[in-house]
Formats: sequence, structure tokens, C-alpha cells
Amino acid sequence: MKIGIIGGGPAGMLLSVLIKKQKPDFEVNLYERNERVGKKLLATGNGRCNYTNVSLEANNFHSENSDFPMEVVSKFNNQDAIELLKTLGIYPISEADGRVFPLSLQGSSVLDFLRLAMERYEVNVILEEKIDRVRKVGESFVLEGKKNYKADKVVVATGGMALPSSGSDGIGYRIAKDFGHRIIEPGPTIVQLESDYKRIKALKGVRINTWASLYIDKKKIDEKFADVLFTDYGLSGPAIMDLSRKSIAALNQNKKVEISINLIGLPKDEVKQMIKDRAENLEGISFENFLLGIVNKKLIISVVNQYKLLYNRDYEEQIRCTTNFVNAMTEILTDFRMNISGYKGFAFAQATTGGVDTREIDPMSLESKKVKGLYFIGEVLDVDGDCGGYNLQWAWSSSYIAAKNILERGK
Ligand SMILES: Cc1cc2nc3c(=O)[nH]c(=O)nc-3n(C[C@H](O)[C@H](O)[C@H](O)COP(=O)(O)OP(=O)(O)OC[C@H]3O[C@@H](n4cnc5c(N)ncnc54)[C@H](O)[C@@H]3O)c2cc1C
Repeated sequence: MKIGIIGGGPAGMLLSVLIKKQKPDFEVNLYERNERVGKKLLATGNGRCNYTNVSLEANNFHSENSDFPMEVVSKFNNQDAIELLKTLGIYPISEADGRVFPLSLQGSSVLDFLRLAMERYEVNVILEEKIDRVRKVGESFVLEGKKNYKADKVVVATGGMALPSSGSDGIGYRIAKDFGHRIIEPGPTIVQLESDYKRIKALKGVRINTWASLYIDKKKIDEKFADVLFTDYGLSGPAIMDLSRKSIAALNQNKKVEISINLIGLPKDEVKQMIKDRAENLEGISFENFLLGIVNKKLIISVVNQYKLLYNRDYEEQIRCTTNFVNAMTEILTDFRMNISGYKGFAFAQATTGGVDTREIDPMSLESKKVKGLYFIGEVLDVDGDCGGYNLQWAWSSSYIAAKNILERGK
């Protein structure tokens, strides 16, 4: 049996290892367009590779065919992934928020162990080979690159369109389309948000570990606690990346999108008490000096401006410890609103929404319902996960289920 795998990302690499480990007599050819495999994997988790999460629920995955991701993930979940990767040499460590990393905290070690396993089980890796087209000839396939290659089964593991410089530029969609598959319009997700706030450039570099809340048409939709980073174009950091999926969907429907940031990173009642104590102790000092030491200096003018804008009637050059002042300052510091005007594109995104329509894929096998012997795994499918290790979990789960089916059928 000859298996052709297109794409040497996490999904394609794991699949090749699982097949060769069980069936050394199968010929497994993995085609990778780059000069090395796993380029994107090295960029994951800020170089640390957050490869799954200790908590896993249906709402961590998204697809137009909403039940599909869990139909696959429930058969090979986070614990299964941790155990399987352990057998390859990848030992886990989890952080307080549930994200799982390799003990070395180096993404490169995950790639090293996948590469070692491919060597050990003698996967035939063909580098710098971009497969442009796949044709079905009788019961088998021809993969067209610089050369033509034959395969009994083809697995498309070409990724989505996020970070196209890593090699995933959406060619898998064309291969799928050639076989009559429907593609759900791809879009970037887990990506930075742009703001038209006029002082945004002055805030560049401010980082706060805090709550960020998403408001759509003035209604609170979601909230995340993690780092928020101000940039010269808008907002970044894990909390923002996490809120980007819903923000983008709303922006695309021309809805008003705002992110509210708690500038202090403490619950509102604690902030209120702090403001009250501080105002009593420091009564008479200037507004600007009152804010010194509780917010980053770069934020002070923005907070003062916001105060004047919303509570101009109460604004005085020297602060007084009045109920109005305490309430107003608490509101501004815990609910600093920024209008969101856009979002960054694929070049900055960590994942892709949309892709090969999963209604045309069998969740028991990841095989095409249209073409026998053709499989799709990983990000090329219309499945994306939340920030926190869920996209790699999807790569492992889909890869495992496809490998299991190919092995069973090959008996
Ligand atoms: C900056 C960044 C950080 C991320 N951090 C995390 C994280 O911490 N945790 C997490 O879960 N997810 C993270 N992700 C997402 C995760 O990396 C992807 O979801 C995952 O890599 C998808 O795996 P894949 O194998 O499906 O595709 P990819 O990793 O995209 O691999 C596809 C491979 O196929 C090759 N290829 C494409 N077309 C062809 C062709 N025609 N012929 C031959 N080869 C081809 C590409 O060169 C590439 O090597 C991150 C993504 C980015 C960009």
C-alpha cells in the first residue's frame, strides 16, 4: 500500500508516524514544499508550542458543521494526545490556565521528536516538493509536483492560510475543489484587532494582565482574562486574540465592535476601594498625579481625556474625594472602551476559519465522502479551535482518526 501525504505540518507528520509504526511494509511518502518540515510548529505558543489543553469542551472548536469537530475529538481527546506524544518522547507540563507545553518549554523539541519518529519508522520525506495537483486514475492517484508520484491513498494535510510564509497558502483548497469539494470562505482568526482610537500610537507597548470584554452593538458578549497588549495599530495579546473570532464575525456584519479593558487588572469592588482610599489620602493633588503608579504612564492622558469626555461636569484640576469622583474613576479604570475598526490579515493570524466543508467528510475516518481514498486532516478543514492549544489538538485528533481508518482498511 502506498500512502501520499501532502504537507509536513503537525497533522501530516503525526499521521505518517502512526501508519509506519503499525505497518512498516506500507510505503509512506510525505511531500513538503519547504526545505524542512514543521516550520509553523516552531512559531507556536511563542516558540513554546502549546500543544493541547487540560480542559476540552465542544465550544472550544468551531465549524459550520458544528457537531463535526467533537465527533472526531471525542474519539481522540487531549488525554489521548498527551499519552501518545509521551510515547514519542514529548513530556507535558501544564500551566495554571490549562495550557499544555513540552517540559522543555521549547516548541523545537516537539518538532525534533516528530522528526526523530519519522526517521525511526522510515517515513520517506520528500522536501522542496510542492504538490500542485492530484488526479485520480482508476483506483489510485497521481500527485503532480516537480515529478509525478503514485499513491493508493492521498491525505491532504496542507494547512489553512494562516501565516502563509510558513508554507500553508491555501493550495489544499484547490486540490479539494478539483475533486468537487465545497470550500467555506476562509478567513483569519486568533489575530490582532485594529482600533481607530486617536491616541493609539502613544499607547504602544503597554501590557496589562487583565480582563478584556467584547461588546457588540453595546451588548457584552464575552470576556477573557489574560495579557492585553496595546500596539501602534490597536490591540494584541492572548486575551484579544481569543476575542478576535467573535469580533471579526461582527465586523463583517457591519456591527459596532468595542473592547473594554480593565486598566488595573483587579475586580471592580477592589478598584473602587483603592480609588476611595487613595482619594482620601491624596486629596488636592492633580488629576494626572493621582493616576501615577496605578496605571502605566502612557495611559494617563487617555484616562484624563476619557474622564473629561464622560464626566466633564465633575472634572476639576485637583481631585476631591467625592462619591461622583470615586464612581466615575472606577468606571473608567475598569471599563476603558476602545472602538474596533478592523483586524489583521492571514500574515498575522494563528488559524483559519472556513476551509473544506466538513459535511462532505466522514467524521469516522476523515475520508472524503465524494472520493474514496482521499483524506483531509488538520487546518485545511473547516474546523478552528480557540486559542490555548485547541488547533494543535485538532491536528492530532484528525490525524489519529485518519491513520486508524487507513490502518484498519489496509489489513
Ligand atoms: C504564530 C502561530 C502560533 C500558533 N500557536 C499555536 C499554539 O500555541 N497552539 C495551537 O494549538 N495552535 C497554534 N497555532 C496554530 C497551529 O500551528 C496550526 O493550527 C497547525 O500547525 C495546523 O497544522 P496542519 O498540519 O494542519 O498545517 P500546517 O502546520 O500549516 O502545515 C501544513 C504544511 O503543508 C505544507 N504544504 C502546504 N501546501 C503544500 C503543497 N501543495 N505541497 C507540499 N507541501 C505543502 C506547508 O509548507 C506546511 O509545512 C499557531 C499558529 C501560528 C501561525
